[in-house]
Amino acid sequence: SVILAIESSCDDTSVAICNNGKITANVIANQTIHENYGGVIPELASRVHQQNIVPTIAQALKNANVTKQDISAVAFTQGPGLFGSLLVGVSFAKSFALALNIPLISVNHMHAHILAHFIDDPKPTFPFLCLTVSGGHTQIVLVRDYFDMEIVGETLDDAAGEAFDKTAKILQLPYPGGPLIDKHAKNGNPLAYKFAEPQIADLNFSFSGFKTSILYFLRKKEQENPNFIAENLNDICASVQHSIVQILLSKLKKAAKQFNISQIAIAGGVSANSGLRNDLQKLADELNWEVFIPAFQYCTDNAGMIAIAGYHKFLKNDFVGQDISPKARMEFR
Ligand code: ATP
Ligand code: FE
Repeated sequence: SVILAIESSCDDTSVAICNNGKITANVIANQTIHENYGGVIPELASRVHQQNIVPTIAQALKNANVTKQDISAVAFTQGPGLFGSLLVGVSFAKSFALALNIPLISVNHMHAHILAHFIDDPKPTFPFLCLTVSGGHTQIVLVRDYFDMEIVGETLDDAAGEAFDKTAKILQLPYPGGPLIDKHAKNGNPLAYKFAEPQIADLNFSFSGFKTSILYFLRKKEQENPNFIAENLNDICASVQHSIVQILLSKLKKAAKQFNISQIAIAGGVSANSGLRNDLQKLADELNWEVFIPAFQYCTDNAGMIAIAGYHKFLKNDFVGQDISPKARMEFR
């Protein structure tokens, strides 16, 4: 089978090809326009998706060395995400499938972040736990099968990616700030400063109070020294990153114990974070976990993950009709 997959849930237009379970193209057209605004502007995002979608499809077909006539099915992100952005991908997928008279496959973006682990070896076996940390979500998911997943813990307010991005904004770093915090953290002391850790029972998370504690800390320091941020940027970034990673890993540890599972995966944009990757590996050595960390190109939004999810639905003949529409707040199950 040859699956063409389209991802357009936020600000990146991505098209991938999955040829008999192997990803043979994964083209991502990044939108840089939002950097000027400190966040994604939905109206601009959907307009740029419209400009990008046709050339991105053409590039993916070229990279995979296939033609439109070779395609067996079209997979697309139905949600969750920005409605206008999703609409571009969903409409394109529907027209494409109609024109070529091939089946349509709907994919949940949050399932796809996890299923990115089935692109390359080593692949986890079921059941495993996945910590999905992205720009909009922070979830601990019990994965029983490809499409049998249960959220066992999640954030009650901000996502981990938002904690990174909002802190970066306070530090006057451009959007999205997560990767920049990671970069500066590499030259800083992770134990330089301590921030209030959220006290949440069970397996849930909270990052809004944490973010506020950073804001107050910096305001106070700046009153003493107006150049505090500039002079200590690396230490601040390293400490913020370390705190976020510790919050994430302590819940993951709790979940592993509770479910008696030692196959642990991470997914989503924040799984690209070097602090998280390193500390998870250390914890794994200590606790005898088998960990699964995605390749960088499959952490942040990409159509490769939509293509592999689509492939596994294709194998089950799990198709949708032309009456399908985007779901900004798509349910997880
Ligand atoms: P969702 O998947 O929840 O709908 P999204 O698709 O916008 O949200 P992703 O593309 O999965 O999110 O991830 C983007 C997030 O990942 C941003 O918040 C970004 O700052 C963060 N991120 C990316 N790389 C890193 C990094 N190296 N360190 C920390 N954060 C990072
Ligand atoms: Fe995402």
